[in-house]
Amino acid sequence: MNRIPFSKRVKLSAPTVGERSDTGTINSHDTDPDDIEEQEHQLVHKQRIEQRKRNTVVYLETIDRKVLDFDSEKVCSVSLSDSNIYGCLRCNRYFRGRSRGSECFAHSINEEHHVFISFNTFKFYILPENYELDSETSKSLKDIRFLANPTFTKKQIDLLDKVSPTASDLNKQKYNPGFIGMVNFGANDYANAVFQSLAHISIVRNYFLQDPDRFKGTDLVRRVSLLLRKLWSPYLFKPHISAHEVIQYISNVTNKKFSIQKECHPKDFLLWLLNHMHSECVSELEDKVISKTFRGKLKLNSKKVNFWLISLSLPSATLFKDGVESEVPQVKLESLIKQKSFQFLKMPNALIISINRIDSTNKLAGVNNSGINPAIVKFNPDRLVVNGENYKLSSNICMEIDSEDNIVSTTNDKWFDKSKNIEEKLHYKVQLLDKAYDKWFEMKDLKVRFIDKELLFLSSSCLQIWEKVT
Ligand SMILES: [Zn+2]
Repeated sequence: MNRIPFSKRVKLSAPTVGERSDTGTINSHDTDPDDIEEQEHQLVHKQRIEQRKRNTVVYLETIDRKVLDFDSEKVCSVSLSDSNIYGCLRCNRYFRGRSRGSECFAHSINEEHHVFISFNTFKFYILPENYELDSETSKSLKDIRFLANPTFTKKQIDLLDKVSPTASDLNKQKYNPGFIGMVNFGANDYANAVFQSLAHISIVRNYFLQDPDRFKGTDLVRRVSLLLRKLWSPYLFKPHISAHEVIQYISNVTNKKFSIQKECHPKDFLLWLLNHMHSECVSELEDKVISKTFRGKLKLNSKKVNFWLISLSLPSATLFKDGVESEVPQVKLESLIKQKSFQFLKMPNALIISINRIDSTNKLAGVNNSGINPAIVKFNPDRLVVNGENYKLSSNICMEIDSEDNIVSTTNDKWFDKSKNIEEKLHYKVQLLDKAYDKWFEMKDLKVRFIDKELLFLSSSCLQIWEKVT
């Protein structure tokens, strides 16, 4: 057997560049050569560990928490790959892989950014050296792990509707978890309002917040779960989040029917979401939480049909016709429901009511000939009785006409931009009940404010979710 000469073996285990080269004094006359080799190995290993610790301390200081949010779609910013993605804790950009030759590895060399988080495991890695941070060191980055992947215990979830604690962001600015602003990239306020609403239906929220690892095999559900967990997270670095990741996914699978660039009606988006979340929950998780929460049954023309929501029409309204302001019609929500010709057979746990305010066939109706029906729908947010069941309002999505289109002009034609269709001129805000304190919040993009419960009906409600009182 050809043994490697001792001198060569020592050379093989010599320290790498940047590590200490003094290996201590070795008396080769008194000791077994194999023992000396072992000691050499141990010494080099120890030096390497110590050097690694020193590097780690320096690298951890380069983390810039102010730029981190992890809200964007998890794709490599260079290759656009969506698998095995890591986030750079220095610049908040995402890259694929961490092996030699990967985009992440190249980024660490080119930009000298060294600390990364895996979006698969939420473990931390140092590159280009390519080692995982030990669990003790990772504890100092616990806040970053919670930012990327907020988790809740069952006890914490049970308290969400009973205690409403405030949290602080990086700038010590107070915010209320569950009642935070969401980024509008231009035209995704319709989606934000729907996600905010879903996050306040207790059965659904609790389902998505608990044990998120079980959603790993899903596409839509795991993204919605992450978004809802972020909405309720007390560990945010900024007092707002964005739904970029889940909307980009939906944009891809719907061929941009729903996207961040084009306004849509929240009702259409919610229906798409319920249908697809339901089918994924059933097929991947064998769970019917969505249908158990939102699906009811009614009888229409002797046919029994399931429904996700009931759609109500408003009495026609004409404003500013011939320059004369007519009275805005007022109507009770209960009356609108009673006008429907169907008969309820099974009431859902959460009743979704869509109020149709868009009347594209009647251009004379609404503010500034907008085709938007401004009728006031009166309701008591604490109590709605439908088919003998008591409901309480949890979320109220309201529409507003684009402020740019509201500019008063002497020429009627300029009152409204005719190049846009009605949906494109609308924006949405959402009003949400804080069940812990029976207070109402209103979220419009990044703005969050308290709102008087008695004034909720004055906004142009278009999509409400009422939860059954048990
Ligand atoms: Zn970076």
